[in-house]
Amino acid sequence: MQIYILILSLFFSTGFDCSKPGKIQDVEKIQNNSMSKDSSTNVCVEFDELNTKVRDGEISKKDAIEQIKILIPKIKKYFFDNGGKEYTYKEWVFPLKGYGPSAIGGKNGSGYNASGYDYFDGNKHGGHPAHDIFINDRNQDDIDDYTGEPVDVLSMSSGVVVALEKEWSPDSDLKGGKYIWIYDTYSESLFYYAHNRKVVVNVGDIVKPGDKIAEVGRTGLNAYKKRSPTHLHFSLMPVKDGVVKPENPYEDLINARVIR
Ligand SMILES: [Zn+2]
Repeated sequence: MQIYILILSLFFSTGFDCSKPGKIQDVEKIQNNSMSKDSSTNVCVEFDELNTKVRDGEISKKDAIEQIKILIPKIKKYFFDNGGKEYTYKEWVFPLKGYGPSAIGGKNGSGYNASGYDYFDGNKHGGHPAHDIFINDRNQDDIDDYTGEPVDVLSMSSGVVVALEKEWSPDSDLKGGKYIWIYDTYSESLFYYAHNRKVVVNVGDIVKPGDKIAEVGRTGLNAYKKRSPTHLHFSLMPVKDGVVKPENPYEDLINARVIR
């Protein structure tokens, strides 16, 4: 009887041990799968967190440059690993649906002024290294006076969504309001879209020219004020060796494909 029990328990313990490795492998496989997905998206999440630190003045310029240097090659890899396709500037799209270059503020692009601007100054930056592109919204309700609809913000380029802010309230001192940063591997630049009423993409999303990313709004410290007509604030910032420096995108806007 004792021998019988011993044999029986050996059988069961052996049986149990045999099934164990399989179960562990399955668990490991699941963990590895979710880890590889997380860690790749994490590259974008890491950039978003870094961008927020820069925005809020919580990191030195030197440290931020070092981190951007490390992150950009990883973001490029992420873009191609996830099916990203590059589009040249000839295929770039004007960033407001239904609008073209005549909606750009100032005279012949005079709204652009990069002097006094440093990306690494974050929310306390000076200058205006951007073009404001205005919509028809006399009563400032974010709705186009002619179509009765919100105006879609379209991605000008291809790229990866690397940072954004979906929440903003009038008591916030954030200048950009609800904003989006997209990194384009072709031009090796960051595209910045600010003051949106609504952001419809997520960090890690891959976009192509003409994809809807947001709707034009009035979010942001100054954009919310009555003296400011409703507009998209748009910037192009090439990234070289971790340094983010604006470039005037006026010619690109003039030559961009208009989507009616
Ligand atoms: Zn602006």
